[in-house]
Amino acid sequence: MPRALITGITGQDGFYLSEHLLSKGYEVYGLIRGQANPKRDGLERTLPDVRIVDGDLLDQASLMNVVQKVKPDEVYNLAAISFVALSWNQPELTGEITGLGALRVLEAIRLTAGASPSRSKSAKGIKFYQASSSEMFGKVRETPQNENTPFYPRSPYGVAKAYAHYITVNYRESYNIFACSGILFNHGSPRRGPEFVERKISIAAARIKLGLQKELVLGNLEPRRDWGYAGDYVQAMHLMLQQPEPDDYVVGTGETHSIKECAELAFARVGLNWQDYVRSDPQFMRPAEVDLLIADASKARKKLKWKPTVNFTQLVDMMVDHDLAMESRLQTAPA
Ligand code: NAP
Repeated sequence: MPRALITGITGQDGFYLSEHLLSKGYEVYGLIRGQANPKRDGLERTLPDVRIVDGDLLDQASLMNVVQKVKPDEVYNLAAISFVALSWNQPELTGEITGLGALRVLEAIRLTAGASPSRSKSAKGIKFYQASSSEMFGKVRETPQNENTPFYPRSPYGVAKAYAHYITVNYRESYNIFACSGILFNHGSPRRGPEFVERKISIAAARIKLGLQKELVLGNLEPRRDWGYAGDYVQAMHLMLQQPEPDDYVVGTGETHSIKECAELAFARVGLNWQDYVRSDPQFMRPAEVDLLIADASKARKKLKWKPTVNFTQLVDMMVDHDLAMESRLQTAPA
């Protein structure tokens, strides 16, 4: 039975990837941090077949212990400070977790496998996936963006992800580790954190419809993103590690939509006009914005035979329907 170790198990992608790997017969181990992580109970409830192991991307020894104990065939490094806005408030911590965290996981693999420079094949045993991000393209150098598009990150998050991406490539080339970097464009779901804009919008549309909230205040409404469904994207992660050779892949839908369009669709889903409820406030704008991201995922489509199954409208509808049901339940639940 293949064995996978996932960092970031309590996050959106950790959930969908666990479900996917369990359905394929994997034994799944999930790394959880902190002595009283409030998400532990929820994880045990929603994914009872995942085996929880303790560790932190800030702590090299804990990662060494986990890799030695679990002896994984595949390691998926999804853990990060993943919220771009937070990365300006905590840039150093973002660099430590989102950037150097990837190095620590790679070091745990290298040291466990006893890998030595490139002629040795010894590190090939443990495969590694790094959760890279389209935010590395930032102030885009070309449109659409593919694996050869130069990076120009525009946030401490994007800069940290670029470090993690290059260290993944470097460990592949230096130590012959089967290390892949998936450059994933935005992907959401009902499990996306409520701090992210698409979820902020879907929750607000539901709450305003139910009379629980009056308005929604956002930052810049113009940025355009390539949005897909997380359940589709975790399949690409797994496919990357099943290829004969490690490589890097862009994963996205090839469509781009503005935040304004997201609001328009979400409010329309509950029968409201977004312009009556949404306003933009400069205090929520980013110090440096990424204006337009759109993926050229032709390599993933060709080599991985991957393609998205959920389009933008379906994704927005899925989130709004979920949030409407959740908010209604909360209102009717006994106090
Ligand atoms: P997420 O929901 O924000 O999850 C982040 C995970 O990282 C959480 O499980 C969190 O654990 C964990 N984590 C944070 N600091 C840690 C530490 N010091 N040690 C161990 N774990 C730590 O992110 P996601 O949306 O699932 O995304 C997964 C990965 O893909 C992230 O690396 C993200 O940057 C990247 N990515 C996401 C997107 C997207 O659109 N979703 C696009 C491109 C790339 P706690 O619960 O304990 O905080």
